[in-house]
Amino acid sequence: MRASTYPLIEVDEAAALVLEHTPVLGIERVALAHCVGRVLAEDLVATASLPAYPSSAVDGYAVRASDAGKQLRVLGESAAGRPFEGRVTPGNGVRILTGGVLPDGADCVVMLEDVEEQGDLVTVPASLKAGVNFHVPGADLRAGERVLAAGEQLGPAELGLAAALSLPRLPVFRRPRVALMSTGDELIEVGGKPGRGQIVDSNRWALLAALREAGVEVKSLGIGPDEAGPLRKLVVDALREVDVLVTSGGVSVGTHDLIKPLLESLGDVHVGRVKLKPGKPFTFATLPEGKLAFGLPGFPVSSLVTFEVFVRPALRKMQGFTQLQRPRLPVRLGYDARATADRTEYQRVTLRREGVELVAETTGSQSSSRLMSLAGAHALVRIPPGDQGIKSGTTLEAMILALP
Ligand code: AMP
Ligand code: MG
Repeated sequence: MRASTYPLIEVDEAAALVLEHTPVLGIERVALAHCVGRVLAEDLVATASLPAYPSSAVDGYAVRASDAGKQLRVLGESAAGRPFEGRVTPGNGVRILTGGVLPDGADCVVMLEDVEEQGDLVTVPASLKAGVNFHVPGADLRAGERVLAAGEQLGPAELGLAAALSLPRLPVFRRPRVALMSTGDELIEVGGKPGRGQIVDSNRWALLAALREAGVEVKSLGIGPDEAGPLRKLVVDALREVDVLVTSGGVSVGTHDLIKPLLESLGDVHVGRVKLKPGKPFTFATLPEGKLAFGLPGFPVSSLVTFEVFVRPALRKMQGFTQLQRPRLPVRLGYDARATADRTEYQRVTLRREGVELVAETTGSQSSSRLMSLAGAHALVRIPPGDQGIKSGTTLEAMILALP
């Protein structure tokens, strides 16, 4: 074993360093069908009012309020998409259907239920009010109004608005392409039968899911060897096509841990050790052309926790999100938590509601190899460093993964 030359830095300092070196990617114009989940890169201003014309809200008759109580002659029909082109003059009305254009001269719509029809004649109620039962132009949206702001994520309502304004494409931030590689000569592919001393590569599948959830495109590099030359070739080839490299394993100080020296030779390592449990050997480097590399620790929980703390916010920044962090909420500990002397710990917990409070229960052994501590967890509770444990009943901040 060699001693690491990297200073042990605080979690928040490491997270800030990562974001400081993370670029926002460029803008591309994408068809609406592929925009869901993307982040709008420019403000969207309405080029037209909605509705563009006075539009009936009901089925009935377009009439003049001053004709209240009269029997009127029906001049024709205004259906959705087939407007009546004439004018409603005193003593006359036009049959109108929902979405039909309110004809000129009419100032209200009487609902079908409220009239009496006799052939070409219709009797309207004794009291009518101008302006009712139709939508005025611009009621939903006025031309010139800002519809969506840059930085907003596009969901169903936002995409519906863009379509209503007849915009087939939207300017969105590019999504990062990420190369994902596991390292370790003990690893075999999922589906195989591990021999003595071998384990199945589970990190790649966990991280693939985490990356997809974070909205990026993933190129899987498979399992990299614990051998400097071939490992370097694999990484250098992959970097031609991607913005980000994410690896797991090979970042501690064992003689087979090759990721740190590799990243040192390719770029600048900004973070090499963090006062974090799990995840002390987390490594972050910038590479030429604005590319980033994240060397995650090999233990399964360590790799996913460091992904949440460092990688996910960076990938969100690249995609133009303004909110980079998962929600953080105060939670009350429902158990006595052990603390680590010199490292902030992210303990995995389930949550339950007690009135307006969230109460955290441990998911059991917090060993960094025990993925069961993370499966089904609702949150990561931040346990400050210290020699004393934290007593049940104490309120602490938690990073919320899913609310119960
Ligand atoms: P390392 O940091 O490479 O020394 O890895 C530490 C430990 O993490 C290894 O001894 C394995 O038990 C585990 N590990 C490393 N890579 C993986 C992987 N891809 N999938 C599951 N476990 C892994
Ligand atoms: Mg290894």
